[in-house]
Amino acid sequence: MRALSFDQVGRPALDARAQAGETPLDILAQGDGQSPNILVLGAHADDIEIGCGGSLLRLLAEHPHSAVHWVVLSGSEARAEEARASANDLLGAGTQREIVCGGFRDGFFPYQGAEIKDFFEGVKSCFTPDIIFTHRRDDAHQDHRLIAELTWNTFRDHLIFEYEIPKYDGDLGQPNVFIRLSEETCERKVAILMRHFATQRNKHWFTDDLFFGLLRLRGMEANSPTTYAEGFYCRKVVI
Ligand SMILES: [Zn+2]
Repeated sequence: MRALSFDQVGRPALDARAQAGETPLDILAQGDGQSPNILVLGAHADDIEIGCGGSLLRLLAEHPHSAVHWVVLSGSEARAEEARASANDLLGAGTQREIVCGGFRDGFFPYQGAEIKDFFEGVKSCFTPDIIFTHRRDDAHQDHRLIAELTWNTFRDHLIFEYEIPKYDGDLGQPNVFIRLSEETCERKVAILMRHFATQRNKHWFTDDLFFGLLRLRGMEANSPTTYAEGFYCRKVVI
């Protein structure tokens, strides 16, 4: 594992605003007057873009002063480079960001649990998120599941959206939160995926029609006027 350094990114968010009675949903509803601190967690280099790339693009368009802490847990140097280039492309020039690649061994997360838990504590010590995007607790991939468990284990008072990753195992479920997306946003999400992840292009599932297909399916379930959406699982909401 590479040595890690965490810089302070964003502002102390939740504690001060929680004392004023604000919830993350309040912050989202206030438009750009109150931009959220967003933590995005992915086990592998392309998970964040696949799971919530469109929603991040929409959130950042609506809240351009957000701060984003972007964490990819695994990856060789080549995959970490892909992750950084893709994250920077998606976040654009103006977003305050910290991009961290952990270098844990792909496929072996449950056997590196103590080290990964320490890593999560490091993230928690340097960034105070309002909203967290992470893997789904019921995901069939063992790395994804561990990240979901440690997210809930580490962050105890936060709005957490669990995203979905299509895969051979066929573990898609019934999301209970949908974020509607414009066609333009979906095209940008898919273009970023196809542009930056050269190491994945030989995989039969890594195609633009698969990504558009899931966006279309969730858009239908969300009755989206644009026909597109991303689906999430939210297990606790405080109003
Ligand atoms: Zn993954």
